[in-house]
Amino acid sequence: MNPTAIYTYADANGNPLRRKTRFGNGPGKFFSWQTYDPATGYWISGASNANTALYHLDLIAKTRRPLVLVVESEKSADALTDAAQPFDLIAVTSGGAKTWARHHSDQLRTHACRQVYAFADHDQPGQDFVFDVAACNLSIGISTKIIPLPLFVKGEDIYNFLERGGTVEQILNRAQRIPWLKATDIPSRNREQLKSSPPTDWKYDVRLSGVYREILHLPPNATGECMTTCVFHPDSRPSLSVNLSKGLFHCFACGVQGGTSTFYMRWAKTRGRMVLKSEAARKLRARYIDNRREIEL
Ligand SMILES: [Zn+2]
Repeated sequence: MNPTAIYTYADANGNPLRRKTRFGNGPGKFFSWQTYDPATGYWISGASNANTALYHLDLIAKTRRPLVLVVESEKSADALTDAAQPFDLIAVTSGGAKTWARHHSDQLRTHACRQVYAFADHDQPGQDFVFDVAACNLSIGISTKIIPLPLFVKGEDIYNFLERGGTVEQILNRAQRIPWLKATDIPSRNREQLKSSPPTDWKYDVRLSGVYREILHLPPNATGECMTTCVFHPDSRPSLSVNLSKGLFHCFACGVQGGTSTFYMRWAKTRGRMVLKSEAARKLRARYIDNRREIEL
């Protein structure tokens, strides 16, 4: 099958980091990730840290505009950035619903952004996405507006709006009449998400990798990155990549990914136990950093 699009993620200097290839269009579409290896110049299958950098981070670093547009997909980010060229505006995304985190807002701020217009896809994940963006932005002082679009069919997005002849001028006119969001406008579900994300100055403590060693039965001398069978789907060959030095995991087969707290929270769920992310973080610290072994996994 031939790719229908390739989206390259770059660092602030424009050096390639990862790319996402889309195959097919519409409901049957799927994506695959590759990581750039600067040592060899080759693209390697998979991306263990797919959602670390904003799509178009290099463009906002170059233009340093105080106003940035945020959308849900790379396809929309490309289309809107093209359309917004006369206004010298850039559209970014974290790569999809449920992927926006505090570090994305930090990246905006680092590159001079102080105001964001966010655009929701016409569905519940789209609504959740823009409020995640708003919650993280507000927590570090980036003013944010959610700009409603005339979208009619479930799943439509700003790409469809532009395709139908909608213009950036219309969007900017509309935006002038929309108030900036206040913290009290953020729905409680998105506030919870905000609280559970690590603060900006959060540093991974390598001792927390104990949770991977114990649950995945890794050899005691395991270090760095290792592959093992996934505990979140029936896995006959090793699909789960664990980076012990960074504390991150990613399954190339079922797509689950995150840090130690997410890993523990998801693992507990497979055992029928519901654990909040903040609770997971507390338990892991007690067990692996404070050595309070009486706290069970
Ligand atoms: Zn898996």
